[in-house]
Amino acid sequence: MKNKPKPISRQKKQADAAPKKPPSPQAVDERSAELDAARARYFDLYDLAPVGYCTISEQGLIMEVNLTASTMLGVSWGKLVKQLLTRFILKEDQDIYYLHHKQLLDTGEPQACELRIVKKNGTAFWAHLAATVAKDEGGAPVSRVILSDITERKQEEELLKQSEAKYRLLVDHMKDQVFLMDLNLKWTYISPSVEKLLGYTLEELMQLPLDNFLTEKSFQIAMDTFSTEMSKALTVPPLPSYKILLELECRCKDSRTLWIESTLSFIQDKAGKPVSILGEGREITKRKRIEEALRESEEIYRLIFEYSPLGLLSFDEKGVIVACNDNFVQIIGSSRKKLIGLNMLNLPDKNMVSVVQKALNGSAGLYEDFYHSVTAKKISPVRALFAPIVVGGGRIQGGVGIIEDITERKQAESQREALLEALRDSEKRYLELSIIDDLTQLYNSRHFYAQLEREIERSNRYGQPLTLLLLDLDKFKAFNDTYGHVQGDYVLSRLGHAIKRSMRETDSAYRYGGEEFTVILPVTTSEEGIVTAKRIQKELRKENFSLVAGQEVYMTVSIGLAQYKPKEEIKAFVHRVDQFMYKVKKNGRGKICSDDGDVQ
Ligand code: GH3
Ligand code: MG
Ligand code: MG
Repeated sequence: MKNKPKPISRQKKQADAAPKKPPSPQAVDERSAELDAARARYFDLYDLAPVGYCTISEQGLIMEVNLTASTMLGVSWGKLVKQLLTRFILKEDQDIYYLHHKQLLDTGEPQACELRIVKKNGTAFWAHLAATVAKDEGGAPVSRVILSDITERKQEEELLKQSEAKYRLLVDHMKDQVFLMDLNLKWTYISPSVEKLLGYTLEELMQLPLDNFLTEKSFQIAMDTFSTEMSKALTVPPLPSYKILLELECRCKDSRTLWIESTLSFIQDKAGKPVSILGEGREITKRKRIEEALRESEEIYRLIFEYSPLGLLSFDEKGVIVACNDNFVQIIGSSRKKLIGLNMLNLPDKNMVSVVQKALNGSAGLYEDFYHSVTAKKISPVRALFAPIVVGGGRIQGGVGIIEDITERKQAESQREALLEALRDSEKRYLELSIIDDLTQLYNSRHFYAQLEREIERSNRYGQPLTLLLLDLDKFKAFNDTYGHVQGDYVLSRLGHAIKRSMRETDSAYRYGGEEFTVILPVTTSEEGIVTAKRIQKELRKENFSLVAGQEVYMTVSIGLAQYKPKEEIKAFVHRVDQFMYKVKKNGRGKICSDDGDVQ
């Protein structure tokens, strides 16, 4: 059975500490005085120690406390003794104490724990309990406890924990990437956003060497940058604000690649020596892809610009040339060096200046002019096309121009024009051939009707006279029979000439049939027509068709003649003339019969 704990009284303690050997009365007095002084010093120190001391019985009762402990608990010494220590321990922390106390007594080894003590006034503070086991007078185990107020440290720890949790929460949930690396470029921290971005787990990422993480080109850039920056930082500690900006292409787990813009800075120790690398990353794939597409399209436009067969240029809002291609340089007859930076409005080509001026002073649209550009070397026809570049609010930011040397085009156009002209001529010739009789070189009967119709219409419209002659060679059959067909053809051809010689320019003659001819005489009365008819007969009389020298063979022609009657049908008109011709045949041939009825 365990000894019942007895509280230790200070008085008793003083008596306990006294020597047991029976001393002489004088020595006792002296010794006693010394001891009293020592005890007093000891208790002063004991009471005034900055930590609380207390002795706790096996059952957990407070047997003895120093002044500091009683102050810490807010209870006077006298009222503390024989109280259960757990009375002053926060309910939630009491198990900590029970365990601590048990382990202490079971093992006999010093133990420590941290728990919250509730003062008499109800306020709590964090205490550190360090305890060793001792024996009381009766030999029962007691716990000698050193009690320290660790509230301040605990609060600091709590604050630190809270702030760490806050920052971790922030870093863990931010979209951007945060990472830490040691100086051997090994990851020491990677924010979870990297996991989401690249598809690797954080564990995989931590094991991933940098050359697997980055594309070959980006790895090279990263290594070059690290080595330069590292040696710089080791020589002269960088300013805390110093940042290294890198755009790196990273590989995802699924082999896609992403672009990350990383801002790197060195974390330095107190001496300014770099100890690790802090990186902040932001995904810029979309921006990079746009930049890439832009670069590609820029390159395409640059090639079109440079190799275009046209003269191309761009200029600012004042007209100052910003860019131009070789063709523009050639058309202007200058050098690119001289042209860039030159104001278009100062160019000697006044025609071009005027179009540029229109473009710069006008609204959006195309301004065009065709003119002959005169340079020191040549004069060439050009087409100048200018357009202002209009931005928000209708402001003109500059313009672009296209100058085309159209010499070749003009040449081609005139060649084409000449070709068309030749075609038209040949067409006309073929058309004429189709309406001209080979033998007599007069128009054929097909053309006669078309032409007569036109003239009738004109006569009806303008009320002008129109006269028609119908000629028939006399006794031609007999001529053929006597002199042969070839000679007959010759007669026909000569008659053709005789008719032509007798006509005015406005008249037209036709081989109507075998040996029959017609002549249309516009704006001519029948009386005037008779004059022409007579002239034909006269001309024919001049022709001797004999094949034998010294012999004379002449041909005569019978002519019917009539003036058109307004609104008369074409067939009726021709028939009427035909009838007059037959009248001549009946009356002896070689004469003229007109609508006057006379045969002359
Ligand atoms: P008439 O005085 O009554 O008109 O007598 P004609 O002989 O002239 O008339 P007819 O109608 O009897 O004969 C016309 C002749 O014209 C018949 C034909 O041989 C001849 N003839 C028609 N066309 C040609 C031709 O192209 N060349 C030649 N050589 N003769 C032709
Ligand atoms: Mg006939
Ligand atoms: Mg005849």
